[in-house]
Amino acid sequence: MRKILNNILLFILLSSTAWSQKGAIPRPKLVIGLVVDQMRWDYLYRYYERYDNDGFKRLLREGFNCQNIYLNYIPSYTAPGHTSIFSGTVPALHGIVGNDWIEEKTNQKHYCAQDDSVQSIGGSLIAGKMSPHAMKVTNIGDELRLATNGQSRIYGVALKDRGAIFTAGHTANAAFWFDDSSGNFISSSFYLNTLPAWLQQFNHKRWADTLLNYNWETLYPICSYTQSIADNNPYEHLRKGETTPTFPHPVAANNYKQIRSLPAGNTLTLKLAKALIRGTELGQKEATDLLCISLSSTDYIGHAYAPNSIEVEDMYLRLDRDLASFLHFLDSYIGEDNYTLFLSADHGGAHNASYLESQKIPAGTLSEHDIEQNLNQQLKKEFGVDSIVRAVMNYQVFLNEALIAQKKLKRAVIKATISHICKQYEGVAQVVDLENLNNSPLPSYLKEMIQNGYYPTRCGSIALLYQAAWYSDEKKGTTHGTWNPYDTHIPLLWYGWGIPHGESFEKYNVTDIAATLAALLHIQVPNGCIGKVIEFPKQ
Ligand SMILES: [Zn+2]
Repeated sequence: MRKILNNILLFILLSSTAWSQKGAIPRPKLVIGLVVDQMRWDYLYRYYERYDNDGFKRLLREGFNCQNIYLNYIPSYTAPGHTSIFSGTVPALHGIVGNDWIEEKTNQKHYCAQDDSVQSIGGSLIAGKMSPHAMKVTNIGDELRLATNGQSRIYGVALKDRGAIFTAGHTANAAFWFDDSSGNFISSSFYLNTLPAWLQQFNHKRWADTLLNYNWETLYPICSYTQSIADNNPYEHLRKGETTPTFPHPVAANNYKQIRSLPAGNTLTLKLAKALIRGTELGQKEATDLLCISLSSTDYIGHAYAPNSIEVEDMYLRLDRDLASFLHFLDSYIGEDNYTLFLSADHGGAHNASYLESQKIPAGTLSEHDIEQNLNQQLKKEFGVDSIVRAVMNYQVFLNEALIAQKKLKRAVIKATISHICKQYEGVAQVVDLENLNNSPLPSYLKEMIQNGYYPTRCGSIALLYQAAWYSDEKKGTTHGTWNPYDTHIPLLWYGWGIPHGESFEKYNVTDIAATLAALLHIQVPNGCIGKVIEFPKQ
């Protein structure tokens, strides 16, 4: 018996030697792309003292830290962010210019991942009619599939459909996202016709129900949250049933949507990632596999409470623990030296404007909805026609082109009138003619960011550049979308196979992530990639 075993061992040894003699390209077994939705770069340091050793600190201690990486386009929204990270290019080329836009051909509002030609798989009808078809380029997962003749397996998971879909790409085995009406993770017929058995089992365990059994209380005594302002403050949204925005936040059973704005949403997503890795034996075959994970709850909680809240601080301390547990799982299941992980964000987020004003910092809010209504009222007075402006969204003014043509209105005069009106708003720094960008008196840095975000058939004609610390939203909580550093400076940590320890303060763009991954894996860059490779020091 022992002899047979020895022979088997010898055979394995010989085959693996033979494989390496064949000159196999060194690659990790698994790549994990982890996007923390709305994670500002400074959260790595703001809460550093209270992170445990095995989460963010492990990545900082052992990995490579790109300290100075920015989005190189606007608007800084979720769908463009995820798409740019994984495709290595900008909205002007990949086409995902916002979460929503007005499609020129139809003059209708279009949700980035909406695809009426596909069916929901495993969940409610509307939530599943999604695909990446609006993305005009390949991404890193697509290139990995092409490079390995389809042997690499690619998956995306997130609570948000767009967080899973635009990371996974066109050729992915599947993307899975959360369905508020059933509490299940679902997909669409773009990827598959039935949910895999491991996911059906995962859904049957009803993790969302279990996690919704607990109110949200702070992890530590509330007086120890010294990085945040008082729990009861005027800058935060109220949850259903609350009279003050304070801990403990009540959670009602069976209302699955709530999990999005609880730290438990991150826990659930990472649980799914583990189940997926086990269920598909990801990282266990010859070809390199890729798992894209986007943690959406950081964004929902960020929007509701803003960066100075105990809620955001508590969420990152909890995420740090979830991250540590996930890394331990990867060590034991994939092997410490067999995976490469990177952690980044799709955008950051502003401080609450009223809070900044309370600190004597100039700030404010200016609602796009109000601008739209005001413009249409004034344009009607001037030209006698209703609804000349189709929408103000993504910090851009979309014109109702068909109406302007039908009424034979002078388009150039309308644009000039809009520009004149918008310049009067407090909070607007510059009004930019997107169809004549070269003649705008803008710093070249901003001109390039605007140009990189401009895809003509999905963008408006005029862009509104707000003053710093101004944004379009209601007064409570916060948002993102502008060019300013708080929205565009993102973290980028590399860890694991092929990554030396170190840090760089060189300025990089979000589009450099996919270029670097392609170099690391020795595969072609995505077909719209404009990024450059981040050079790690030799090990
Ligand atoms: Zn986002």
